[in-house]
Amino acid sequence: MSTVRRALAALDRDAAGRSMMDLAADLYPIPRSLTGDGVRATLERIGSRIPLQIHELPTGTPVLDWTVPREWKSREAWIRDPSGHRVVDLADHNLHLVGYSVPVHCRLSLNELRPHLHSLPEQPALIPYRTSYYVETWGFCLPHRLLESLPDGEYEVFIDASLGDGSMTWGECLLPGSTTEEVLISSHVCHPQLANDNLSGIAVAVHLAEALAAVPERRYSYRFLFAPGTIGAIAWLARNRERLDTFRHGLIAANLGDCGAFHYKKSRRGDAGIDRAVAAALAELGEELVTEDFFPFGYDERQYCSPGFDLPVGVLTRTPWGQYPEYHTSADDLSFIRADALAGSLAAYLATAAVLEDGLGAAEGGQKGAVHSGSVARSERARSQRSDNDRCYRNLEPFGEPQLGRRGLYGGLGGAGRKEREMAMLWVLNQSDGQHSLGDIAERSGLPAGVIRDAADALSEAGLLEAL
Ligand code: ZN
Repeated sequence: MSTVRRALAALDRDAAGRSMMDLAADLYPIPRSLTGDGVRATLERIGSRIPLQIHELPTGTPVLDWTVPREWKSREAWIRDPSGHRVVDLADHNLHLVGYSVPVHCRLSLNELRPHLHSLPEQPALIPYRTSYYVETWGFCLPHRLLESLPDGEYEVFIDASLGDGSMTWGECLLPGSTTEEVLISSHVCHPQLANDNLSGIAVAVHLAEALAAVPERRYSYRFLFAPGTIGAIAWLARNRERLDTFRHGLIAANLGDCGAFHYKKSRRGDAGIDRAVAAALAELGEELVTEDFFPFGYDERQYCSPGFDLPVGVLTRTPWGQYPEYHTSADDLSFIRADALAGSLAAYLATAAVLEDGLGAAEGGQKGAVHSGSVARSERARSQRSDNDRCYRNLEPFGEPQLGRRGLYGGLGGAGRKEREMAMLWVLNQSDGQHSLGDIAERSGLPAGVIRDAADALSEAGLLEAL
């Protein structure tokens, strides 16, 4: 029996569950964002429990196709109604202010104010979570029924915030094993005051690190990454590009405190060691597991599983993002997560580590460019069935996602089919490694062939894609 397996057998689920709830409660009120003191305070609390190395990367540093953004600091933000009453106040809830809002102090009519107010008509009692990291604007989030009750008249808006040169912060905890082969556990740390989508992943990762640190012998080295979403993973990949040959297995930890069944999104490869290990571990625990094939949106698997890196990284959650009504709203609070669910999640991660330590998937290389025999066979088959006007492309920015917003390809104005067009671009970028034609991508993504073709045209025009 490996020592990790013994740690799993000895796990006191009640105590661990309580401890994870305490950590989540401790972190809950901290105003986190992509950058700034909220992330630093969060990492400080994590670092008081496990050995954490803090990294600060200055604003403007190029990382893959991206640049480290300006640092955002928010101090005070409120709206006063015509009678002078503060109807929305950041001091009441961190979700009230759109993340990365620029400073403003002005008086304006309700009609002028409305475009800056975000609410959920379908869930009128809840505050939504909104950010605007890469488009300069300001805004407030509030319950729809409060929005509906606002009288006409002159409003005063005040946001004391700053966007300036600073840095982006992340933390890493490395637990060396008897080999330098690494297992990565990655959690984002950028969500303010949201429990399941964010704090549950952090709590499980911290407790997994504590449990593994207490184990006398480990074959693998375990690296825990606590970084802001997207840009944090991109920065980490940019800074660690040269040493990814030690990368063996990776998991993204999020949405682990609700009472839903376990859900596993496979790595891009689909048959990596981690994909087999998670299935084996959950079966051993007798837990129900729903698995899903890789798709190129979601959390930071979008970056780790970009075609240039193609790292064996999966996402082990309970109910996936976007699939529970509390997701990204004020209802994802501490009452939504449960100690027993967190403890079960910790056991699932520990069991996965035990399976890995036992050697399942040990032969798996993490190195980029290692195309799997299974996927080669699949693509050979696909190629022989390809019609004459079907084409293959190569992604010219295959390391991480290229920043589409900067090229006018993402976000911006809405309009019918915008989301579908954006998804089509992500599919085309992720799958265009010379092995998959547009026809293959249309079939795999379930998107209309015309939409996939248009996406390929737009990406080619932007210089991101080359026809083969
Ligand atoms: Zn989220």
